[in-house]
Amino acid sequence: MSRNILVTGGGTGIGRAVAQHFAEQGDTVFATGRRPEPLAELASKRVGDIRTRPCDHTDPAAVNGLLGELPGTLHVLVNNAGGNTGFDADGKTDLASYVRDFRANLDANLVSAALTTHALDERLATGGAIVHIGSIAADKGAGSYGAAKAGLASWNLELADRLGPRDITANVVSPGYITDTEFFRDHLTDARRENLVAATSLGRAGLPDDIAESVGFLASPAARHITGQVLNVNGGERKTR
Ligand code: NDP
Repeated sequence: MSRNILVTGGGTGIGRAVAQHFAEQGDTVFATGRRPEPLAELASKRVGDIRTRPCDHTDPAAVNGLLGELPGTLHVLVNNAGGNTGFDADGKTDLASYVRDFRANLDANLVSAALTTHALDERLATGGAIVHIGSIAADKGAGSYGAAKAGLASWNLELADRLGPRDITANVVSPGYITDTEFFRDHLTDARRENLVAATSLGRAGLPDDIAESVGFLASPAARHITGQVLNVNGGERKTR
């Protein structure tokens, strides 16, 4: 059966791999993001049935607008949009800037998922699935970004309870260090990358496809009895700060 799947932030990195993974299986995928360019590039790849829609998932009006462009029934929602918006938020800036940066991470990584889920969950079919993309940062004391990802996992527990009676699962895939993404390409030094790889049991960074396959599993019938969980996909990465 072909399913309708929404992947937020599906134009790049992990989200793109997730979108392509489902499309290759014959599902109809709706991929969103704020910038039109990555979405146009994804659509041009012509991997299965991928339809792209611009949407800022921190903006209730934009998410409301998206509703009219999606089918009446969704089978899977992947809350992937996010990333660390506040690398410099170390508390040494002025108070207004600190709060602005702190809130930006909460908005991008936690509020966006809650808002999108709240807008769409009534459309989810029985047997459907929600998968959020968390982060190993949730377990590391990684500032407002880590706090947002930890909050995502906590909030998901209540969500799983609420959707369980409708036979809908809700889980978090928590990646470790993933290469081939803007996120890590643009924000880490070579030394930091080597340090992160050295801290994994498998001695390597993950790929976006590693995350896509785990998301695919949690959204499949094989995972129908798994809900309210965090699946760590990090090559055995130990705590590094
Ligand atoms: P990318 O920056 O490539 O992907 C993030 C995507 O989210 C982009 O396509 C971006 O598009 C979109 N996005 C960001 N904010 C919004 C928004 N408000 N509304 C709509 N779309 C948005 O990085 P990754 O692929 O690495 O990140 C994907 C997820 O994985 C994130 O949640 C990140 O926190 C998480 N993660 C990544 C890890 C890594 O190693 N790369 C490790 C652990 C977790 P646009 O800017 O056009 O809106």
